[in-house]
Amino acid sequence: MITGKNYIGFSKSVESDTTVTSVNAFNGTVLEDNFFTATSDEIDKSVAKAKNAFIIYSKFSGAKKADFLDEIAKELESLGDELVQRASIESGLPEGRFVGERGRTTGQLRLFASLLRDGNWVESVIDTALPDREPIPRPDIRKMLIPIGPVVVFTASNFPLAFSTAGGDTASALASGCPVIVKAHESHLGVNDLVAGAIIRAAQKTGMPDGVFSSLNGDGYSTGQNLVLHPGVKAVTFTGSFAGGKAIYDLAQNREEPIPVFAEMGSVNPVVLLEEKLEKEAEEIATLYAGSITLGVGQFCTNPGLLFGVKSKSLDEFSAKLAEKMDEVSPSSMLNEKIAKNYSTQRNELISDNEILLSTKESSSVGVPTLAKTSGKKFLENRKLHQEIFGPLSLLVECEDTSELEEVLSKLEGQLTGTIIGTDNDLIQHQKVIELLESKVGRLIFNAAPTGVEVSHAMNHGGPFPSTTDSRYTSVGTGAIKRFARPICYQGMPDSLLPDELKNSNPMNIMRMINGGFTKSSIE
Ligand code: NAP
Repeated sequence: MITGKNYIGFSKSVESDTTVTSVNAFNGTVLEDNFFTATSDEIDKSVAKAKNAFIIYSKFSGAKKADFLDEIAKELESLGDELVQRASIESGLPEGRFVGERGRTTGQLRLFASLLRDGNWVESVIDTALPDREPIPRPDIRKMLIPIGPVVVFTASNFPLAFSTAGGDTASALASGCPVIVKAHESHLGVNDLVAGAIIRAAQKTGMPDGVFSSLNGDGYSTGQNLVLHPGVKAVTFTGSFAGGKAIYDLAQNREEPIPVFAEMGSVNPVVLLEEKLEKEAEEIATLYAGSITLGVGQFCTNPGLLFGVKSKSLDEFSAKLAEKMDEVSPSSMLNEKIAKNYSTQRNELISDNEILLSTKESSSVGVPTLAKTSGKKFLENRKLHQEIFGPLSLLVECEDTSELEEVLSKLEGQLTGTIIGTDNDLIQHQKVIELLESKVGRLIFNAAPTGVEVSHAMNHGGPFPSTTDSRYTSVGTGAIKRFARPICYQGMPDSLLPDELKNSNPMNIMRMINGGFTKSSIE
């Protein structure tokens, strides 16, 4: 049930008269629920509770935290159709999409639960004492990862479930042992309310401390900014625009105690199309890319926004096919009015200055699939063409030759993904192109589309600035837990006081690096 209240740990709280509403993204009408915005007192209370909860929660075993994550997944499932329907209405995306996205969300909670039960993620390293070492003895030194403290999560408009209230950031922060305070996204306040209620129920059922999770509604940006500035907060995650992510990052770096901000701010996801592959498989690649560019009305951070190729007959034939297939996709409503307006403005600007390969007959509609074309020379001269246009749009950059292609790639900014479409022969002949792309991206993809990010152990969903503020970390997959952990080193600590992960007997039976080699053995 939607309450409209803030969740401050286990308490539902209303301290202000100010309310905000969310909108039916299909038709722009205001939905009837009112959501009370958080006061500065409520912000303080949520952080105070999170700080207290951290003392208890951070010491819970992996198995106990895993039970909590599993229970959240169950509670999400028990929300049933209400959650799916609300997500659809607030995002303008079909209900079927949210059946899938709910599965992804519960799947990622359960994946983190299994990571905790396994226990290896803490990276235990032990250098045993060498009392007889000359010229000086070596002490017993043991290291592992521990959680850093309360985390503020800014949720993403384009994944109301999987990158939102109980999404990957929350799941990975809770898994690491950090309490979470979510700043609700104004685009899906109802979904946030339902999911926050589910997390609180799961916390109560599994004996978690009050304050392990809170969710606050905001009026404008001040709620989020005050959370970032609060001295009790130790890390921030963000998914959204460059302007928003950079503003929050700067705010956090200027605190008296700077804290890490893991902002994922978008990407144009360059795709290089090589000639032999296009000659052989133009039809299949065009079908794949028409689907990828228009999937979810193009509102994915991995949407392929830039296509690069060298002038050739096969590139012309491929682009005509791609345009034809994209033309078959109907325009659709977008996530919110701001995103639809931005798309329309940026699209109009782009097409006024570039060749349009796709029919523009429906340009008055929202979310119109668009394929534009420019030259390598123009692309090099105009930095604006390098920027993300969030929506179902791709710009094909036609280069004169391979050397211009390499120059163009060398000028790209940091990206989440880069893709190469080529035969083995193409790839052998374009080693430099591969190296250039590798230097710009967090995930290098061969002969596939960048949309569809697997939630797994090996996934890296991150990349050099400006795609994120910290290219060393992923926000998807089990590696995301590392963002909220810091190393602690114990020197000469008695075995009985050490955490289980570092005890001589290895009671958790985890893999540890002992004196430089990996083993599950105990220490005699
Ligand atoms: P956004 O405007 O960056 O907002 C994301 C979240 O951050 C929202 O909760 C917003 O608060 C908050 N926020 C933004 N700027 C802030 C600031 N200066 N101080 C404090 N809080 C701030 O993103 P969006 O509304 O989701 O979408 C807008 C654009 O972001 C899109 O057009 C697209 O370009 C980009 N985007 C990128 C991705 C990606 O995957 N990287 C995903 C979605 C969107 P409110 O809730 O109060 O607005």
